[in-house]
Amino acid sequence: MGGVNEHKGHLVIMIGAGPAALYATAKLADQGHTVLILNRDLKPGGLAEYGIYLSKHHMKEGLRKQFRKILAEPRVLYFGGVQVGTAGAIRLSELQDCKPSALVVGAGAQGTKSLGVPGDAGPAVYHAKDLVYHYNRLPPFSAQAFPMGRRVAVIGIGNVMADIANYLIAIRQVPEVIAVARRGPVERKYDDREMRPIAWHYDQAALKQELERIRPRLAPLGQDMDAQYTALTKDCHVEPKAGRGPSRFRFRFLSSPKAIVRDAAGRVVGMEVEENTLEERRGQLAAKGLGETTVLPVDTVVFAIGDVVDLDLGLTPAKGAWGYATNPTPDPEDPAAAPYQAYDPQAARVLEGVFVIGWSRNASDGVVGKAKLDGEKGTAVVNRYLAHRPPLAHREIYQRIGTIYHRIREQSVPIVHKGLWRILERVEREEAKKRGLEEFKYGANDEMLQRIEERIVRRS
Ligand SMILES: Cc1cc2nc3c(=O)[nH]c(=O)nc-3n(C[C@H](O)[C@H](O)[C@H](O)COP(=O)(O)OP(=O)(O)OC[C@H]3O[C@@H](n4cnc5c(N)ncnc54)[C@H](O)[C@@H]3O)c2cc1C
Repeated sequence: MGGVNEHKGHLVIMIGAGPAALYATAKLADQGHTVLILNRDLKPGGLAEYGIYLSKHHMKEGLRKQFRKILAEPRVLYFGGVQVGTAGAIRLSELQDCKPSALVVGAGAQGTKSLGVPGDAGPAVYHAKDLVYHYNRLPPFSAQAFPMGRRVAVIGIGNVMADIANYLIAIRQVPEVIAVARRGPVERKYDDREMRPIAWHYDQAALKQELERIRPRLAPLGQDMDAQYTALTKDCHVEPKAGRGPSRFRFRFLSSPKAIVRDAAGRVVGMEVEENTLEERRGQLAAKGLGETTVLPVDTVVFAIGDVVDLDLGLTPAKGAWGYATNPTPDPEDPAAAPYQAYDPQAARVLEGVFVIGWSRNASDGVVGKAKLDGEKGTAVVNRYLAHRPPLAHREIYQRIGTIYHRIREQSVPIVHKGLWRILERVEREEAKKRGLEEFKYGANDEMLQRIEERIVRRS
């Protein structure tokens, strides 16, 4: 056995510490590689920490337990609070200059997707991700105000809409929440279990009316609105855990937003929608506008239509998709690699040694299990790439990490390493216990850093 200085291996820089990045890290570390994680948030977990709904404590804690185990591995280094990109502490190109063996981008989809309809930029129009980050207490969204009116339209009909509706009803007690969908009830994307906590709040008479309204458009397609009514209302008897409250929940189907209507003072007073029908396109039912519009009287709008990758990170987004561009030309020797290889469309070349996984590759695609699988599949590609690369001496690996550390510190950015993050976890756990809460989170980075420091001073 050689001493520590004879040890050779690879250095992989991982950008992000969400589920895709962390499960990929576990596999890379298993292979003996050193993984340096750079994560924008002080805490690891990504949307598992700051996306999954508030009441799912058990699921979140289960994931945290797995993440703690992954991060406890000595070959894994964690730099929390470090955003990569033009708006961050270090650029992607600077990381490439440090010559890691490979660089993996698992930064999720942090950009904002917009329909670009008139009136959508301004007060009382929100994007679901920002609101989700707000109620899950991710800085700086935790400190932003999201005033809600009395009639809130949520655009989209997937699981994120379900979470937003749950939050608006159970926590914000908004009197009326309306889910607006381009297509019909059969094409709803949410898992019925996600709507169970608020099904009691459905306005069943309004639902019946809405299904009658769209029946003539959907009957020719063989869609049975009576069966849909039964399916949609099957959980309406379930007593809501958060209490009955005054809110009513409605659906508006076959409607595409065309404009947010504002009054002279800029207040939202409605949303103009175009009526749709459905037609078959490439084996799927797609919405087709009928040219007829209606104004829904709402005063707040939340877009829950999925996310897009961040333009500031340093990679180019794919054309016509929401993730970063990947190699369009599979290598016949390794066809599984291309979808994970980052690509520069302008130069028409693969970015050597740079890989993309999870929601960075395929934005808003599925649950944690899917992100995990994608991270692990990407890791297999990275491993095959590394097998042909000369390994680095232990000393070289730590010199490169040192260079990155100093570049970040030159920007006066505090780095939360594993030890500090563990202190923060402990302090928040104690605070939760003191307050009799299931969990407690500080909502500002400065506050988290201060609590960590106080604990260190108290110990010394
Ligand atoms: C509202 C909502 C609710 C959900 N609920 C569930 C659920 O109940 N159950 C379930 O299984 N799945 C749920 N999901 C899906 C699940 O959260 C995702 O599948 C998963 O988190 C995607 O993982 P990811 O690692 O690709 O991205 P993310 O989880 O988004 O992680 C991205 C990571 O990258 C970091 N990062 C971002 N930009 C940078 C940068 N420039 N530099 C450095 N680091 C950066 C972030 O800090 C973060 O740690 C939900 C998703 C949403 C949006």
